[in-house]
Amino acid sequence: MLVFSSLRRAGRHAGRKLALLLALLVAVPVSLAMVMARGDLLSTLFQRHASIMLLVDPETGEIVDANQAAGDFYGYPVATLRRMTIQQINALEPEAVMAERQRARAEARNYFIFPHRLANGALRTVEVHSSPVILESGRQVLFSILHDVTNRAVSPDEQVLYQQRLEQAVASYTERLEADHLRERDYFIAGLVLALAVILMLMASMLRRSRAEATLIHREEQLTTLIEAMPDIVCFKDGQGRWQLANAFDLKLFGLEHVDYRGKTDQELARYQDFHREAFMDCVVSDEQAWQARQMVRCEEVIRVPDAQARIFDIIKVPLFHADGRRKGLVVVGRDITEHKRAEAEIEQLAYFDPLTGLPNRRLYLDRLETALAAAQHSRVYGAVLFVDLDGFNTLNDARGHEVGDQVLQECARRIRAVLGDADTVARFSGDEYGVLLPQLTRQEHLAVRQARSVGERIRLCLAQPISLGAGEVSLSASIGISLFPSTQRNTALDLIKFADTAMHQAKAAGRNQVRFFEPGMQARVEARFSMEGDLRQALARGQMQVYIQPQVDQEGKVRGGEALLRWLHPEQGMVSPVVFIPVAEESGVILALGDWVLEEACRLLNHPAMQHESLRISVNVSPRQFHRPDFVQRVKQVLAQTGADPNYLTLEVTEGLVIDNVHQTAATMSELRALGIHFSIDDFGTGYSSLSYLKRLPLNELKIDKSFVQDAPENPSDAALVDVILSVARHLRLKVVAEGVETPDQASFLTARGEMLLQGYLYGRPVPIEDFLKQLQQG
Ligand code: C2E
Ligand code: CA
Ligand code: CA
Repeated sequence: MLVFSSLRRAGRHAGRKLALLLALLVAVPVSLAMVMARGDLLSTLFQRHASIMLLVDPETGEIVDANQAAGDFYGYPVATLRRMTIQQINALEPEAVMAERQRARAEARNYFIFPHRLANGALRTVEVHSSPVILESGRQVLFSILHDVTNRAVSPDEQVLYQQRLEQAVASYTERLEADHLRERDYFIAGLVLALAVILMLMASMLRRSRAEATLIHREEQLTTLIEAMPDIVCFKDGQGRWQLANAFDLKLFGLEHVDYRGKTDQELARYQDFHREAFMDCVVSDEQAWQARQMVRCEEVIRVPDAQARIFDIIKVPLFHADGRRKGLVVVGRDITEHKRAEAEIEQLAYFDPLTGLPNRRLYLDRLETALAAAQHSRVYGAVLFVDLDGFNTLNDARGHEVGDQVLQECARRIRAVLGDADTVARFSGDEYGVLLPQLTRQEHLAVRQARSVGERIRLCLAQPISLGAGEVSLSASIGISLFPSTQRNTALDLIKFADTAMHQAKAAGRNQVRFFEPGMQARVEARFSMEGDLRQALARGQMQVYIQPQVDQEGKVRGGEALLRWLHPEQGMVSPVVFIPVAEESGVILALGDWVLEEACRLLNHPAMQHESLRISVNVSPRQFHRPDFVQRVKQVLAQTGADPNYLTLEVTEGLVIDNVHQTAATMSELRALGIHFSIDDFGTGYSSLSYLKRLPLNELKIDKSFVQDAPENPSDAALVDVILSVARHLRLKVVAEGVETPDQASFLTARGEMLLQGYLYGRPVPIEDFLKQLQQG
C-alpha cells in the first residue's frame, strides 16, 4: 500500500491545491480524521474513498496507484490498474488531451472533462481534478479524483458557481489549517471541511435533480448514505428556513426521528419537541445572522440532551443565494466538540493551575499581568502587583509535616481569594509565595496607592488570623510587597513581579507581617498619609484648625462678602495647605466633622453686627462626601437653628464633579436648601465636566470662574475666549459671577470690561483669620 507520509507542497499554488484536495476527499466518514496519524489518515482516505482516485506519473502516464473505487468503476482489479497507463483508459488522442487542457485553462476551470473507457468497452464522461503531490519517495505524481458525469445535466454556469463556492469555503479553512501548522485541532477542522464539502456537493446534486429528475438519483443516494452515516449534524434548509434534509444524527439529537420534518421551519419543529424549543429558537437567530452576514459563519451551540450532560457543538452555517440575491438555502454542519473541550480544559487546568490550591500558577499570572499591563499603558488606569510571602512557613512545614503545610497553603489561598474582587487574580507562584494582581484601580496615582495598600492590609490581616486544623491551631503572618503599574519606565511584567518581590523582602527585613511598596516615593507617601490621617483626626479637638476669610469685592472694590477657607496649623509641620489635607479628610471621613465646624463658624460670623450692617454674604465650601450624606439638609438646618444665622446670606460652594454624580439627588438636596434661602455656587467652573444640560436642571445662583482662566486671560487668547464662553453660560443660566484668583490690575480690568461680577483674589486681600477680617471691615 502506498503511504503519503509526506504530502509536501508542490508548485506555487500549493495552498490552493491542498484546499482542492481536501475538498474532494469528501466521502470518508469524518471521524477517521480525528483518530489517525496524518500519513495513515491520507492513505486510508485514499484506499477507502468512495470517489475514484488515481495517482498518475505526469511524464509517462503510468498509473502509480488506484483505489478500490477506481477498480470498481473501470472494471479492472486494482492490481491490474496499477500496471496500466492513463492512455489505455483515456479515449482521446494525446493532441485532444492537450486541447482539453487548454480549454480548461481558458475557462479558468481546475478540472478536465475526458471520455474514459471501461473494461467492458463502454465510454463514460469523467470530470478529472488533478493536483501534483510529492510522494515519500520523492516522486512527483498527479493526484487525480474522477467523477462520472456522463449523465449530468447541469448548466455550465451553475457548475462553475458551485465549484467556486466550494473552493472558497474550503480555501478559507485550509488557509487557517496551514497557518496553524497542523495541530491536533486541525484534523477536526479538516473533518468539518469534509462534511461541508459533502453537503455542498449534495446540494449541487439536488439542484440538478430539478432539471434532470431521474438521472442523478443514484448519485444523490450515494451521497445521502454518506451523510446519513456521519456522526455530525448535517442539515439543509431552503431559503425560507424550511428543513429540506437532515441526517440521522441531527434528527436523533433533536428527537425528530419519527417526525415528518421536511418542509417545516424551526418554529414548527419546536412544537414537536418542546424539550428543544430553546435550541430551535436559538437556531432561528443564528440562521438569520448567517443570512445577514451573507457568508459562512461559525459558532458554538450548547444543545441539551435528555438525562445527560449538555453537548457543545461547533456549528458552521453557509448561506447560499440565487444570482439575483434571493435566499436559496442554508447548509448547517455541526460537530460535537464536548469531549474536545473537556480535554482542552483539562490540559489548560494542568498547564495553568496549581494542583494543590486550584489557583492559577505563575504562568497564567504572567499572562494576565501582561494583558493588564498592556491595557494600563493604554488607559493610564493604575493596577498593582502584590507579592505575598508567608512568614515562618518553612519552620511550620518542618515541625508539623507536609500534610499540615499543604492544608495551610490551601487555607491561605482561600482567604486571599475571599478578600479580592472578581476581576482580581491570586496565583500561587511556588512554595509559600502567592501573587495578587489588581488589574484596574484608578487613574489617580495617590488613590491607586491607597487602594493597593488597603487590599494588601486586608490580606495581611486575614492571613494573621489563626488557622484551625484538625489537630489544633497554627498562627502565621505574611509579608507583602507591592509595585504599581504602568510606570514611566515601561517595565515588563517580569520586572513588576521582581519589584514586588524586592518590596516583600523589605517588608521581611523591617520585621515581617507588613505591607511595603517597591517605589520608595510611594512608601514614603503612604506613611506620610497615614500619619497625616491620624493627626487630622485629632486636629479639630486639639484646636489646630482655623477658619480664614477671603474678601469678595465688587467693581468699585467694595467688600460684598467673603469665602471661608480652612487652615490647619500642624504642631510640627506648620501651616498645612487645604489642597493637601482636604483630600485626606475626604477619604478618611474626617471632612464630615470639619465641614460641620466650618459651617458653624461661618454662621456665627454671619451673626456679627459688622456683617449684618453691611449685608455681607459668606461662602462655605462643601465637599462631595459632605453634601451626599443623607442627613446633610438636616445638619445645615440644625446649624442654622443653633446659631440663629440668616440663611439668606449663606452661599454653599460645590464643584461640578459633585453635580455629575447624581443630578437627580443633587437637585433635590439643593432645592430643599434653596427653599430656606441658601444660595448655591458652582466652584472652579470650567475645570470640570461643565455640562450645560446638567447645570440647567439645578437651582444655582452663582458661578465661580476658576483662577486658572482668570490668571492667563489677559495674555492668552484661548483663555480669554473661555472666559467669554463662561460669561455667556452665566448669562444664559442667569447666574451671578465671581472671578477668583485675581492678582493683578490687568486681570481685574480684563474682567470688569466684560460685565458685572464680583472679584476675589490677592489683589483685594488674602484669606485672613476671622478676627482680622472683621477688623479690616471696621477700618473700611
Ligand atoms: P477654592 O475653593 O478654589 O479656594 C480658593 C483657593 O484659591 C484658596 O486656596 C485661596 O487661598 C486661593 N486664592 C485666593 N486668591 C488667590 C489668588 O489671587 N491667587 C492664588 N494663586 N490663589 C488664590 P486655599 O485656601 O489653599 O484652599 C484650597 C482649596 O481647599 C479650596 O479651593 C477648596 O477647594 C478647599 N477648601 C478650603 N477650605 C475648605 C473647607 O472648609 N471645606 C472644603 N470642603 N474645602 C475647602
Ligand atoms: Ca471655593
Ligand atoms: Ca475655586
